[in-house]
Amino acid sequence: MPDIAFPFDNSYARELPGFYAPCQPDTVPAPRLLFFNRGLAEELGMVRDGQTDASLAALFSGNALPPGAQPIAQAYAGHQFGQFNPQLGDGRALLIGEVVDRLGRRRDIALKGSGRTPFSRRGDGKAAVGPMLREVLIGEAMQALGIPTTRALAVVATGEPVFRERPLPGAILTRVAASHIRVGTFQYFSAHGTLEQIRQLADYAIARHYPEVEERDDRHLAFLEAVAQRQAALIAQWMHMGFIHGVMNTDNMSIAGETIDFGPCAFMEAYDPRAVFSSIDEMGRYAYQAQPRIARWNLARLAETLLPLIHADEGRAIELATEVIDAFMGHYQQHWLSGLRAKLGLAGLPGQEGPDTALGESWLDLLHAQQVDYTLAWRRLVDAAAGNEAPLRALFPGQPGLDGWLHRWRERWAVEGEAAPAPLNRAEAMGRINPWLIPRNHRVEEALAAASDEGDLAPFEGLLNALARPYEENPELAAYAEPAPQTFMAEFRTFCGT
Ligand code: AMP
Ligand code: MG
Repeated sequence: MPDIAFPFDNSYARELPGFYAPCQPDTVPAPRLLFFNRGLAEELGMVRDGQTDASLAALFSGNALPPGAQPIAQAYAGHQFGQFNPQLGDGRALLIGEVVDRLGRRRDIALKGSGRTPFSRRGDGKAAVGPMLREVLIGEAMQALGIPTTRALAVVATGEPVFRERPLPGAILTRVAASHIRVGTFQYFSAHGTLEQIRQLADYAIARHYPEVEERDDRHLAFLEAVAQRQAALIAQWMHMGFIHGVMNTDNMSIAGETIDFGPCAFMEAYDPRAVFSSIDEMGRYAYQAQPRIARWNLARLAETLLPLIHADEGRAIELATEVIDAFMGHYQQHWLSGLRAKLGLAGLPGQEGPDTALGESWLDLLHAQQVDYTLAWRRLVDAAAGNEAPLRALFPGQPGLDGWLHRWRERWAVEGEAAPAPLNRAEAMGRINPWLIPRNHRVEEALAAASDEGDLAPFEGLLNALARPYEENPELAAYAEPAPQTFMAEFRTFCGT
């Protein structure tokens, strides 16, 4: 592929021998490009003259890997729904290399669905068109919403079926991530490896993701704390966006703090803290409101793997790590509160933390009690800040509580005194963080069904295009902003993307 060059620099393969298995992707019969993320490709410095859909399809199917690619399957373990599985690993993915992008950020380029690896167990190593396009839609939506996320660079149809409950068209996704180091990567080497390997992995992750703690004497404790901080910020963003990851196993939690592995994830519609859509999550372990608690639980599993590095005395190591884990909810609350204030259009006044939390919670109680669409409620609150309350009122089937709450909200503005912005400025700032558009579940399902069942990519492309500017209200895209019919949400379940 002389017309396509990745400036590869494969530090994981180079610095961490023994942490992966070299492995080649399968050859696929008829690669056809379904999606190419030109903007991301430019960011990565890999756009060249003379690229055709056919050459890109050959590349991103794994049929013609570019010079410098060094495909490896990474080893990892993980707790899945609370059960430890010591042997997971890349069963259907390959890291083909790393690229330092135009902003100097090192990023992984990985194929997903490229065939069996030494970690495949009983799986076929393959993926289907629907779930891979789903990863495109949700990842790009997260990116546009401003939430740290892995992203899709390309999707190629393979031209061969994959056999699930029924035969489905096969596909390969190319995923870009800050890295694919997971909590489960540490668990793997804690279960099977040596202390020296845990140290190597931790020091690699520190150098790559948290160089600010590298020089500290207590760098492994500081690393744990830094990972926890990033997760606290990430989960707060998920919560404010109504995002439910759906399968927060420890192997699906990135050390770099990005959202990763979009399987049975969904955005909430009518506000319900107990919302859970995943077909495999029968106990609601990964329900919306459980996510902060689960993140903390996963971080405790990471902490366990780091104990011998944190302190030579085990008792002392446990004490130190426990302090970090115990601080997680406080960090999360801080991120959540500052996000809440921004969504409500309130300045972060000292002394108002308690009242602001209460104000936000009573707003959420109102949404819950009246089953109001979460995204639209916030967006119509933006209009209310600008002086137009009618669209907000129209969302509430009954009015009780809303007037009183709006009154309290406005009284809170007064506390800002002279520093208070003009109403239109307040509304404008709120409009920049309360999205008008999220990937509505019925739209996502419709787009994936058309692509997978009919080979029709138009609904997928229309939706992807609409999701690129989620904070701009565009009357031409109004159909994408509408909640699903209630009958749809009542039956809605998401499935793991295998
Ligand atoms: P996930 O549910 O995608 O987070 O995957 C959990 C584990 O199952 C990982 O180790 C995957 O590599 C593996 N896995 C998922 N699907 C397949 C498949 N079709 N073939 C082989 N391994 C798979
Ligand atoms: Mg996974």
